[in-house]
Amino acid sequence: IFQLSLPLNFLGTIYRELRQNLLDMEVLFNLQTEHAPIKDKPGAQPLVLKGGAIRFENVNFGYHPDRLIFRDLSFTIPAGKKVAIVGPSGCGKSTVFRLLYRFYDPSSGRILIDDQEIHETQLESLRRSIGVVPQDTPLFHSDIMHNVRYGRLDATDEEVKEAAMKASVHNTVLSLPEGYSTTVGERGLMISGGEKQRLAIARVLLKNPPILFFDEATSALDTHTETELMRSINTTLLDRARTSIFIAHRLRTVVEADLIIVMKEGQVAEQGTHEELLRLGGLYHDMWIQQASDNSPERIPEP
Ligand code: ATP
Repeated sequence: IFQLSLPLNFLGTIYRELRQNLLDMEVLFNLQTEHAPIKDKPGAQPLVLKGGAIRFENVNFGYHPDRLIFRDLSFTIPAGKKVAIVGPSGCGKSTVFRLLYRFYDPSSGRILIDDQEIHETQLESLRRSIGVVPQDTPLFHSDIMHNVRYGRLDATDEEVKEAAMKASVHNTVLSLPEGYSTTVGERGLMISGGEKQRLAIARVLLKNPPILFFDEATSALDTHTETELMRSINTTLLDRARTSIFIAHRLRTVVEADLIIVMKEGQVAEQGTHEELLRLGGLYHDMWIQQASDNSPERIPEP
């Protein structure tokens, strides 16, 4: 009985985990459950990654047909570059990610990765290629080892620890009551926002995707933690040619991006580097001045 119950327990754990992950993904991306689930088209081909160039071509999309979020939205994210998407709250920054990950399909227009329409590719191969560090990392009610391993389910304990070391969270984990066996998540041990995000980085490191999304990855942190976190992101995740997209509120974190895409009312208002956009004197310039004159402790310097 003992021998039989072990694999059954194991299967039970896997099943519960997968189910929980699915639920968490829904919570994570604030999904509506009513819309028809996205499925592979008959004859869909696996996505073949070359450099990870992303192109939106005349994309129209609304969560509801009577309220368009994107109107003929077009932009290109070059392969291997660090790109920031900024714009007023509600302009659709997170929606860019939701369409790219195919939680939703556009009503018209095309989205391409390395010249392949994502609509025509196998969903599994698409999602395997994209990693995300969300603003508020959901932790499953499970131990830390499982929580990080979610990045790649067949990773060994050693690989999990190595990823945690690179994400600068290994020593913190060791200082917890039960180390990697400490239960976190709902009703588990509370850990800080910064630690959660480091665990998210460790997860993504295990997954090692060619395309990476940071959704407001640093918004809830104090300045010191943010600097630390950006450093570990820069030294670990950005250590090789990888297309990385930052959805940012605070412009200070996007100054060094290769390209900044400024969105407004469902379209690209302007794009360029930080210096180019400041010189342009448009929306980005105004947002920069606005944030610089903000009285919050998160002040950014005058241009
Ligand atoms: P923020 O900077 O505040 O995070 P954002 O630019 O990322 O915003 P999105 O989250 O992409 O904006 O949302 C764009 C618009 O779509 C918003 O007006 C939002 O209210 C709406 N929206 C987002 N998710 C849904 C949904 N699941 N159902 C209906 N409307 C939605």
